[in-house]
Amino acid sequence: MEEASLKAVRVAKWRALQAAGFILAVAGTAALAAPGVHQAGGPKALFAQAVERGSRTVPAAQAERLVWRGADIDGDGQADFANPTGHDTRKSDAYGCGEFGASRDGGSRRHEGVDFMADADQSLVAPISGYVTKIGLAYPGDDALRFVEITNPALHYAARVFYIDPQVTIGQAVRVGQPIGVHHTLEQKYPGGMTDHVHLEIIDNRGERIDATRLITARYEPVVGPARG
Ligand SMILES: [Zn+2]
Repeated sequence: MEEASLKAVRVAKWRALQAAGFILAVAGTAALAAPGVHQAGGPKALFAQAVERGSRTVPAAQAERLVWRGADIDGDGQADFANPTGHDTRKSDAYGCGEFGASRDGGSRRHEGVDFMADADQSLVAPISGYVTKIGLAYPGDDALRFVEITNPALHYAARVFYIDPQVTIGQAVRVGQPIGVHHTLEQKYPGGMTDHVHLEIIDNRGERIDATRLITARYEPVVGPARG
């Protein structure tokens, strides 16, 4: 719902720009690329591209994609966190909502992770650098659904990636963004109406689980280049 209305606002904005004429449309495209967002070619190249296209046709509706970025907490210019699936967070479905702190079991407990949508068998990447400190079961007695725990003693964070068929072993060093296994679908565990996802827990130096979307954030960025059907 929220996503749909956001999209409607963006579409409306873009239509207004188109109505305001070609020059404004170019300015609008550049404005979408806020400072800090790296864009291949930069604004000049974008302008030249638009002029070239504009001489023949009005630019097509601006395509956008959701881009995830991890926080750089040690200040070395590199992201220290990554979205394990690369997909958006799980919204409300028949079983609940995927956000941190969402109600579970009729309100008797809270969701201690963030759910990121995932495709069956897709590759999953390490959400942090560190050592594999545990490979465990998500549900006692069910060895199909496992998690991988990675601990980073320098950053003082640990992360657990759930519903994974691991391709790492305990003690192994991994880098943030490196493939660590493939997603094990939840279709059998939760038939009918569960959005397939990976459950990610980030644990801070006090041992508290914190909201991963404070460290892994998303923004819409315009897709530069010819639209594909
Ligand atoms: Zn979850």
